[in-house]
Amino acid sequence: MDFTELFGSLVFNDDAMRRKLPRDVYSALRETQENGTPLDPALADAVARGMRDWAMELGATHYTHWFQPMTGVTAEKHDAFMDALPGGAMLANFSGKALIRSEQDASSFPSGGLRATFEARGYTAWDPTSYAFIKDNTLCIPTAFCSFGGEVLDKKTPLLRSMQALDVQGKRILKLFGTKVKRVFPTVGAEQEYFIVDREKYNKRKDLIYTGRTLFGARPPKGQELDDHYFGSLKQRIAAYMRELDENLWKLGVYAKTEHNEAAPAQHELAPIHQVMNVACDHNQIMMEQMRKVAKRHGLTCLLHEKPFAGINGSGKHLNWSLSTDTGANLLDPGETPEDNAKFLLFLCAVIKAVDDYPELLRISVATSANDHRLGALEAPPAIVSLFIGDELEDILAAVEAGEHYDRKESGLINVGVDTLPALRKDTTDRNRTSPFAFTGNKFEFRMPGSSASIGEPATVLNTIVAEALSCFADELEAAEDMHAALQSLLSRTIKNHKRVLFNGNGYGEEWLREAERRGLPNLRTAADALPHMLDEKNVAVLTKHGIYTEKELHSRCEIMLETYSKTILIEARTMLEMARTDILPEVLRYTSFLAQSICSKKASGVAAVCKAETALLEQLSLLCDEMYDRISALEQVIADESTIEGCRAKADFCRDTVLGAMDALRAVSDRMEPCVAGKYWPIPSYGSLLYRV
Ligand code: ADP
Ligand code: MG
Repeated sequence: MDFTELFGSLVFNDDAMRRKLPRDVYSALRETQENGTPLDPALADAVARGMRDWAMELGATHYTHWFQPMTGVTAEKHDAFMDALPGGAMLANFSGKALIRSEQDASSFPSGGLRATFEARGYTAWDPTSYAFIKDNTLCIPTAFCSFGGEVLDKKTPLLRSMQALDVQGKRILKLFGTKVKRVFPTVGAEQEYFIVDREKYNKRKDLIYTGRTLFGARPPKGQELDDHYFGSLKQRIAAYMRELDENLWKLGVYAKTEHNEAAPAQHELAPIHQVMNVACDHNQIMMEQMRKVAKRHGLTCLLHEKPFAGINGSGKHLNWSLSTDTGANLLDPGETPEDNAKFLLFLCAVIKAVDDYPELLRISVATSANDHRLGALEAPPAIVSLFIGDELEDILAAVEAGEHYDRKESGLINVGVDTLPALRKDTTDRNRTSPFAFTGNKFEFRMPGSSASIGEPATVLNTIVAEALSCFADELEAAEDMHAALQSLLSRTIKNHKRVLFNGNGYGEEWLREAERRGLPNLRTAADALPHMLDEKNVAVLTKHGIYTEKELHSRCEIMLETYSKTILIEARTMLEMARTDILPEVLRYTSFLAQSICSKKASGVAAVCKAETALLEQLSLLCDEMYDRISALEQVIADESTIEGCRAKADFCRDTVLGAMDALRAVSDRMEPCVAGKYWPIPSYGSLLYRV
């Protein structure tokens, strides 16, 4: 089978649907997938039968509702396609009811108090707009996950709701231009960064096993200073891994396209071709899962953590985002006619307004303790949300802003909808790698999301705040008598009011911190700083207005995310304690005792040895051991103190202000010991061996 045949072979895609479904059923499902028309439940049995036949031909025995609870990874519970018949016989069965809805015990998933354990019921509901697929002989049906009261318990439902909001508002705007479309939808290409390390070495590090990142480790002699890994040729083992990963992803219909080495040693990236957002979100989950699975088969481990190693780059997940229509238009493509330009400028200004109005929500959507290690660490964008659109486009906006009193003869001013924009040179627009949110020619690239997180949250926020900006624009333009004049004044005003969020300079520089403060842009450095803003009045207002979350759901989400923040840090702290107490300190003490014995036996031998090296090392390491012991006690105390604090916000603040500091202190002594201890005594694989010996 060549790879074009491989592609999508495990997906119930359009081709499979056409082959397996009666024609009227196929057309109805197609209509649902393309235009969001609700599917007649009476057809569900026929869809289920077609899916089952198709899946069984490909060896599937089970089905599962595949969903994305608040844990950030996917969940599944497998049922066989089986009904019992009298006489010990069975019937392969899969009903429409089983396809559409399934009851789940929701009690063990984080819900932030949305349901008490005794009302554990939740249910998953089929998302017919994302294709079902087969994984490990199981038919996986993409679903949304809700409590019995209808409150969302997952990352998928809000995403679907926000796509709907964007569709409604986008169509209002296009209607004003006389453009007829059935659907406006966001497209996403999520570039995924990851590290690959040797599995045997991974298994020797409790920190990697329990927390996904190294909590100890002295800098290796070589970091990424030579920039020799980026786009470098692939090691054989990695190439074989990527090949199998690609094949698996292709079978699952994921458009895995570009793979290369990233900036840090042992770091790589996979970029898929963009897709409609909810499918892109599912595909990103599939991608992460396959990255981990395939690595195991190659004796490797894939690290998706945002910061597996201190001192070298961490991993992000760039969210490339644009707006499309069912007629194939990209609304963020400037186009060539004045008409297209005007639409483009309007959508562009909607994004600018959205980002300036709701920077806290964007920051919150990527807020985890893991991501705090990279944002603002001079390798990823700072925690300040700003927009890069490039000098050319900034000049154009300045001309539009000034164009209020338009005079055709005066050059440099632009009359929207009449003039054509100068052609933008695409290659100049994405040079700025330090911006959290960059316009890259015909899409935006949101660079703050972390590598391990679902794109559900940032995507939901982005859709919603842009829908809100479009809705404000539509309100104003719909009421106007002269659409053209109203548009000109709206754009000019929007640019004037929101240009403070535009920044083309170096986002890593110290200066930007001060400049951003002068401009009044928030700098929410940690997740603990950012998360409580979820409940700010304006944020609750926009999210409830567009039907994304209820206020109750927002309270619960805020609680879940703050709790996850503290729990993650405490797991790291306890892992450090265990490693320091049971691995590192005992081995260093053994080495010091070897040094002491060596001094004694040399002296006893009667030779005139001063034992300078052993003595100095012994002294130094003994002091460090004592220091480590004290810092272990201090961290223990801090963990005990945390358990007495009430309330998820106070706990998160304490973790940020106190626990992290005690962890850093403990790490620092260990990292000073490591270079002084004989390699064979050091109990865990070093950074050098993890990063360079794959
Ligand atoms: P590069 O950034 O290397 O120039 P591209 O711009 O082609 O490469 O693509 C980077 C990522 O952006 C890819 O994942 C791609 O699918 C995605 N992308 C390209 N166009 C769009 C779009 N209109 N909407 C969403 N994502 C897009
Ligand atoms: Mg990119």
